[in-house]
Amino acid sequence: MVVVKNICCIGAGYVGGPTCAVIAYKCHDIKVTIVDINPERIAAWNSSKLPIYEPGLDEIVFERRGKNLFFSTDVDATIQEADLIFVSVNTPTKKTGLGAGMAADLAYIESATRRIAEVATSPKIVVEKSTVPCRTAQSMRTILEANSTNEIHFDILSNPEFLAEGTAIKDLLSPDRVLIGALQTKEGLAAQEALVNVYTNWVPKERVITTNLWSSELTKLAANALLAQRISSINALSAICEATGADVDEVAYACGLDSRLGPKFLKASVGFGGSCFQKDILNLVYLSHQLNLPEVADYWKQVVTMNEYQKKRFVRTIISTLFNTITNKKIAVLGFAFKKDTGDTRESAAITLIKDFIDERAQVAIYDPKVSSEQIFMDLCEPGVVDTRKQVEKQIQICSSAYEAAKDADAVVIVTEWDEFRDDQLDYERIYKNMHKPAFLFDGRLLVDAAKLRKIGFKVNVIGKNELA
Ligand code: NAD
Repeated sequence: MVVVKNICCIGAGYVGGPTCAVIAYKCHDIKVTIVDINPERIAAWNSSKLPIYEPGLDEIVFERRGKNLFFSTDVDATIQEADLIFVSVNTPTKKTGLGAGMAADLAYIESATRRIAEVATSPKIVVEKSTVPCRTAQSMRTILEANSTNEIHFDILSNPEFLAEGTAIKDLLSPDRVLIGALQTKEGLAAQEALVNVYTNWVPKERVITTNLWSSELTKLAANALLAQRISSINALSAICEATGADVDEVAYACGLDSRLGPKFLKASVGFGGSCFQKDILNLVYLSHQLNLPEVADYWKQVVTMNEYQKKRFVRTIISTLFNTITNKKIAVLGFAFKKDTGDTRESAAITLIKDFIDERAQVAIYDPKVSSEQIFMDLCEPGVVDTRKQVEKQIQICSSAYEAAKDADAVVIVTEWDEFRDDQLDYERIYKNMHKPAFLFDGRLLVDAAKLRKIGFKVNVIGKNELA
């Protein structure tokens, strides 16, 4: 039986960092080293201010760092001493070339795999942790076997990560399931068992699912596509609610009571964001096209199309409500992260909304408790275009509180569902007093009690509830 004693994780990002920190926290006899080619990121992991915000992460890292948890830029040495290597690098959607805007960019996966093949001097279990198109493990295997100069045996496993940002530590400590796919060979199954034994240090055995490699790879794409599909479905219904007087919260609640459906992921909103949902669905779309299944591709593509429509629909509602123009009006945007309890802004709905507000020549004041000004500028400016930055700087103001953002604003727009924007936490009377009148509030997250805010004097519009007073 293979016993894992030394783990290397390539990629110290939102997945590699928390995942391997939790392994170190739960398995004191395993040495875990997380490596990255980005020295600033590693320096931050080794500092008192970690590079990502995730509730509960600091405590775990600070407890194990320097004992059995290490962060390093020395990729080669760490690969050499490990017996199991997680590949947890980014797999973004390709920006240019064939498949641009749809296919996954696998350049980082390939480069990490080649590095392993070149420097390994002993057998390794290589684990795909990144989300990848189905059958990527086959390419990794070919690279490993062809490039190893040392006749080393490599096993390859797929172990996709299901954590959600904002609840990553909770999800990792108590996962719904851990999925491990392997080739159905004697060696493959032995490697699978070795990784199962790592997880069962804290995850109940019945929650560690073993499958073949390809089922495991496809499950990650399928799970994200199904989750996003529910959001797009309820968002599509929110448009019908607004046109008919139905209340999307009531519809979702009543539907969710059906035990076949369940209540989760039925919350209407301005649209999903994050680095995964759109990317993984587009992966599935691309894969379907490659497999000559155009109808299947069209089916999944609609989930993304609906999401884009929802964001644009919200912008159109805001403009039409503000008397068909937002030129020179001040819009306060509460929240920039793609969801609460994370500082991650990748594919955040806020970016689309604010870019549209800028195009409509509005003044936009932004407040988010966890996103830095620099990040906001990076997300709103086209890279390398100086004029965009100048224009953006003229039209946006980054604020240090919701009160500052809303001062003299014509409208407040809730984009991220941070608890501090709830009506029992934020002093909406104070906000109302300092706004231009009529004072509009647009709730893109169904976060506030509209009736309560109407009593204060706000004109309130909530997605999926056509009650504009
Ligand atoms: P990330 O961009 O935060 O981190 C990836 C890291 O890999 C970066 O720091 C990058 O510098 C590093 N890297 C790239 N190539 C490298 C190399 N050759 N050697 C060493 N380091 C290298 O990405 P993430 O959010 O952690 O996502 C990683 C993977 O996990 C992606 O495939 C993603 O789809 C998947 N995933 C993400 C989430 C999530 O919530 N973020 C959830 C589940 C799965």
